[in-house]
Amino acid sequence: MKHGSPIKNINMKPIYKFNSGNGAMLCNSCSVIISTGKKTSALLCSKCLKTYIYEYPLKYEEGFTGKELSELLTKLLIVKEKFFENLGVHTGMVIEGNSITYHTDVFTATKMCYEDRDSMYWWEFD
Ligand SMILES: [Zn+2]
Repeated sequence: MKHGSPIKNINMKPIYKFNSGNGAMLCNSCSVIISTGKKTSALLCSKCLKTYIYEYPLKYEEGFTGKELSELLTKLLIVKEKFFENLGVHTGMVIEGNSITYHTDVFTATKMCYEDRDSMYWWEFD
């Protein structure tokens, strides 16, 4: 089974489980522990999140239109304001009047939302 792919059309909910007194967030797709401690809105581990984003059905293979991005964020339970804050200034392109956001930028910004980080680690810059 490929990470992330079978769950495309299912409405995901955060999975929070207790294990010997410690709470943990589990991935909706592969059930690995995403984080321990406090409850978050994270639905997928970063591997499954990556597959989910890269295999998301899109009009243009280059990346996400604004509408697709907005649908994706709703499915992933990500607050739009936070996402765009994390996305920051990024490169993109315009196809037939649609501004396109690349998969890599979408993945980095959604991952940051799930991990609740304010800035990128150095290895995430390309
Ligand atoms: Zn997973």
